[in-house]
Amino acid sequence: MDGLPRELGQQTPAAYDVERVRADFPILARRVHEKPGKPGKPLVYLDTAASAQKPRVVLDALMSAYSDDYANVHRGLYELSARSTEAFEAARTTVQRFLNAGSDREIIFTKSTTEAINLVAHSFGEAFLTEGDEVMLTEMEHHANIVPWQLLRARKGIKLVVVPVGDDGALDLAEVEARIGPRTKLISVTHVSNVLGTVVPVKELVALAHAHGVPVMVDGSQGAVHMPVDVRDLDCDFYALTGHKLYGPTGVGVLYGKEDLLDRMPPFLGGGDMIRRVTFEETTFAELPAKFEAGTPPIAETIGLAAAMDYLEGLGRAAIAAHEHDVGAYAMARLAEVPGLTLYGTTPDKAAIASFTLDCAHAHDISTLVDMSHGVALRAGHHCAQPLMDKFGVAATTRASIGLYTTRAEIDVLVDALLRVREIFA
Ligand code: PMP
Repeated sequence: MDGLPRELGQQTPAAYDVERVRADFPILARRVHEKPGKPGKPLVYLDTAASAQKPRVVLDALMSAYSDDYANVHRGLYELSARSTEAFEAARTTVQRFLNAGSDREIIFTKSTTEAINLVAHSFGEAFLTEGDEVMLTEMEHHANIVPWQLLRARKGIKLVVVPVGDDGALDLAEVEARIGPRTKLISVTHVSNVLGTVVPVKELVALAHAHGVPVMVDGSQGAVHMPVDVRDLDCDFYALTGHKLYGPTGVGVLYGKEDLLDRMPPFLGGGDMIRRVTFEETTFAELPAKFEAGTPPIAETIGLAAAMDYLEGLGRAAIAAHEHDVGAYAMARLAEVPGLTLYGTTPDKAAIASFTLDCAHAHDISTLVDMSHGVALRAGHHCAQPLMDKFGVAATTRASIGLYTTRAEIDVLVDALLRVREIFA
């Protein structure tokens, strides 16, 4: 992506009308820093990797889930509960289609990716790991894909094996293979780095791991956002995603897992809905997917997530990916023009996430200033990837992340804002 000729960045993929898409997102019409007598500035939202804005269809689906058919799901014998259950289970079918899973029994609703990974760490860990077994991670994992394994390590005495990434942020599969040994029981890896934008070649990694009999869990929090995902094609054993990054509501996530594995794993949380029969002496558990869905699920949020997935499919997943790639490449090329700016994550064909430092200002100051001067929303900090910050020898970076509604004009505003920061500090 880096080294993109400037002229290329001036063209928009023909079929994708970003202005029409932007009109679907009510919040993008608002201005920030409005005060009496001051018109404020248009919002330039470049923090989609932290949480995406929501299209009107998702807001409508949430409203309708509460105002038209709301009741608790499952077991209700009256019409409203039946309709609510129907919508909830239809959402499961939507997710199954979105990920191309073979069965809706393989789709577990969670509250987030974080919960999905914790589920696997607990439940897979309980079923299949013993002291001395190894779980392999990479250096660019989000804390959500590090800490659950450390907790498992504390409980079971497993070992964590960490694969380094290159200075450009690339994951070399030879480095993965070199670390696979007889005790390797799982590789858990991000699909796309939330800091570097690196796209892990998951399909190749899975083939490699499976050749050694090792299953693979994919943290798809960022991956499912930026590219079409086909879990059967990837052949991964688990794939986690989080609704709020996928233009859906907060409070809902998904764990895809291969049925034969999920079947052999014990429940994670206990409570209502996940049981077949309870006595004080013994409880037997429900079949998949209910076995892993204890308690009242996020009903409206799940329906909202399905609306988001329908929306993304309506726009065309490949068209979205092409648009984001285009704006992302433009961002990388334009950011490279800013004097004193260092980019982290420079692999070709990376996802549209640009992390950087400026030699003259702290990441937090940059974020505050660009917001105040130009209405640009950027994230600054360790991005829940402190080991990766340590690798690059920085405490924090500033991150611009691009979504399906981001325009090149917004990248130009960002660059102007950064040049202004330089004027202030240099
Ligand atoms: N993994 C990655 C790569 C992420 O970017 C994030 C969110 N920043 C997560 C996991 C955790 O997602 P959530 O907080 O929605 O569980």
